[in-house]
Formats: sequence, C-alpha cells, structure tokens
Amino acid sequence: MKRLLAPALTIAALASLHAQSPGERAVDWNRLRPEILERYRDLVKLDTTAGGETLAVDYLKKVLEGEGIPTRTFALDPKRANLVARLKGNGSKRPLLILAHTDVVGVQREKWPVDPFGAVMKDGYIWGRGSKDDKPVLAANLVTMLMLKRLNVPLDRDVIFLAESAEEADTTGVGINFMVREHFPEIDAEFAMTEGGGATIEGGSVKQVNIGTAEKLPARVRLVATGTAGHGSAPRLDNALIHLAAAVEKVGRWETPMRLNDTTRAYFEKLAAAGPPEQAARYKALLNPASAAGAQQYLRQHSPGEYSMLRTSVVPTMLKAGVGPNVIPSEAEATIDVRALPDEDIDRFFAEMTKVIADPAVKVVPLPRIRPASPASRIDTEMYRAMEQAAKSVYPGAMVLPSMSTGASDQAQLRAKGIQSYGVGPASTESDATDYPAHGDVERLAESSLYPFVQYVWNVVTAVAAKKN
Ligand SMILES: [Zn+2]
Repeated sequence: MKRLLAPALTIAALASLHAQSPGERAVDWNRLRPEILERYRDLVKLDTTAGGETLAVDYLKKVLEGEGIPTRTFALDPKRANLVARLKGNGSKRPLLILAHTDVVGVQREKWPVDPFGAVMKDGYIWGRGSKDDKPVLAANLVTMLMLKRLNVPLDRDVIFLAESAEEADTTGVGINFMVREHFPEIDAEFAMTEGGGATIEGGSVKQVNIGTAEKLPARVRLVATGTAGHGSAPRLDNALIHLAAAVEKVGRWETPMRLNDTTRAYFEKLAAAGPPEQAARYKALLNPASAAGAQQYLRQHSPGEYSMLRTSVVPTMLKAGVGPNVIPSEAEATIDVRALPDEDIDRFFAEMTKVIADPAVKVVPLPRIRPASPASRIDTEMYRAMEQAAKSVYPGAMVLPSMSTGASDQAQLRAKGIQSYGVGPASTESDATDYPAHGDVERLAESSLYPFVQYVWNVVTAVAAKKN
C-alpha cells in the first residue's frame, strides 16, 4: 500500500514510517510524475555529446543545491566536469553509490524525425539522444536524491550521487578514470548501481528484469601478416593478404570453449526453468553437456548476444591492406574485437589464438586496453537481494535474473576497485530495443517506462540505505 507523504514530515510521522519495509517507503508516485518527466526532459534537452557534459553538471548543481543538497564538481577538463553529491548516513554501513553518465553519443540530425535535443513527446514516447542512454538513470538517481532529502529519510549508509562525463569514449581519462584515480574517496562505496541492466516488455507487461552483475572485457588484437612485396603480375606464395585472409577465417570461425560463471549459470538456469516449453527446452539442452553443442549452434544463429555470454568471443571487424591493384603489399592487418569473459586468462587466450592461426607469417598483436579486467559482482549480497525484491514489487510477475553484459561500461572500473556494482535500466519492448536502441540512429523511451523505473531505483536505494530498526 502506498501512502502520501507531504515534503515536510514531522519526526513522529517519520518514526511511524519505520514500521514499514524501507523499500516501500511511501512516495505518492502519481503526484511525482510531472516532476519526474520534467527533470528527465530537462536532461534530454541538454546537448551533452562529448565536451558538453558540464551543461548537465550545471543543471544538476542548481537543482540539488536548490534543495539543500551540497555538491562538489571535479573537472580535469572544464567542459567535461563530474559532479558528486552525498547524503550522509549514520555510518553503520559503507556507502551506496548511484551513478550515471551525462554524455551521449553523437547524432546525425538528418536521421531524426524530431529535434534530437528537443525531448519531444510523441506517440507515448520521449524522443531524444540520451533518452535511453543514460538519462533515465541520471534522472532516476536525481529524483531519488531529492526525495531522500525532502522526506528526510534516515540512512544507515551514505548515498553518493555521481554524474560522470565521458563514459562513451574517455580517450583523455576525464570521467570515471579521473574519479577513480584522483578522487576515489569521494565515490568509494560497498555497492554501486548504474546502467547495465534492463527489462523486457511483452504483451503489455514487463516479463523479464535483468540485473547487470558482470560484463565482458574488450581485449582487442591486430593480426599482422607479413610477406614479400612485389608486382601484381607475379604470384607469390608468401602474399601477406592470402595469409591474413586465412587467419581471419580461422579465428572468425573458431568455436572458443563455453564456460559459465555464477551470473550466466543463474541466468540460463532461470530461463530453462520458466517461459514457453520450447524455449525452456533449448536452455535445458544448453546446460546439459551431452546436448550443449547443438543448443549453442542454435544461439549462434538466433541469439548472438546469448551465444556471446557463453564464451570469450572473437569477431573480425576491420581490414587494412594494399596500396594499388598491381602491388603485392608486404603487410596486411585485421582488427579482431575480442570480448573476454570476466575470468579469462587473456595471455593464455592469445597464445591459444596463435595456435589456431598456426601460421608464423601472422602475428597476434594485442591493442591497448581501455578498461581494467573486472570480476563479476556477487549475487548473494544485500544489494542484489534488494534489487530482486524491488523488481518483483515494481514489475509484478516478471522473471528477475542476473545478467552479464557482452558490452563494456564504467562498472568495470568500479568492480576492479572492489565495489559490488549492479546494472539497471528502464523496460522496453523487443521491437523498441531493436528499432530505437541506445546509440541507434534515433533513440526514444516510452513515457510509461520512465515512472516505474524511477520507482524501482528508489525502492532499491531505500531498501539498502535507509535506516533499519
Ligand atoms: Zn550508457
């Protein structure tokens, strides 16, 4: 049951609140909707493509400080600032960090039916760059901070709000890398929550909620083939292009070993235990060593993302060779996007790759890694349980499962520092996720997905951080 609470609460009213579960701490969500929408749209309207992030920091600073929440900004590049706000708890538990990145990827304006920074509302959607990635999380975190303050919620642990720049591409290290390296005490926490999860709508209701608990590590390599240069009229056996082409084919078709971790085992086990019988049977087959190979092939064809969750994946993405049609080049190279499982021994894996190529004319050259290797976050923590509980209460009837992202995020830096970090995201239909994805030509979020998402974030934060009697 939800109860209405006026912003100015008496101590007595607060005391009576303690009787209810902290996760259910009462907020009148209907009354809060216009404000949620306004804050979210304000954020989508800011053009925070790389170099514009300080626009968001200025906005957040004004809103937070306007309600008495002090903020600090940390900027290696003045145009790409980060902002931290902290609500103090009684110190009986270590802090909770809620973070979101403020930057968005670029736009090709001609592809947009509306102004990409207009936060236009049309057909039940809010349209705009960042409407999915990552301004729903930013807005949910902001509203959560405002409500904690307004309701004066007593806290067992500090709640730290971080708005960070440069998640999409931090070539100069101004975002999470800067914060972790130079200002770690400002954001150090037991738990963190940010983008990296999500939920799927089917037939009008949320059927599945993914809690992001792990991610793969980008560990790219170049394959460099060398041979003797020469005239295109005289074929050579050591033609670098021929050697490279063979190597690309071998690694591209390489069936790397399947290996599950706690997250992916729980993920596939849950899918095997629920859902339509035909689908459940496929996941069951995957978990049975006798039938796993066939099930993997099915996923390889029909669900590349899940296929990738099973293994360190190897994907050729770029080729570079040749200076003219009549010239045999002395060198040819390919870029291979390797996405390693969190526990992969990368050097051993590259040695394995060299064996698969089995050609001394082709060298495997690792590219510099942008993110650290990061262990999966645990699925037996207070935080994970609170997220599971909150998901079940906000999205009744949905299956809740831990998930490993095949992409990479700023959670890697946090996990590498020992913070148990978890991913969330607003719900979307399969077709919306495909046709209007994060980073897509056009991005949009269903308005109806925004409000429950904010409620979900709020429930998690209060369950984990609010004072328990
Ligand atoms: Zn993002």
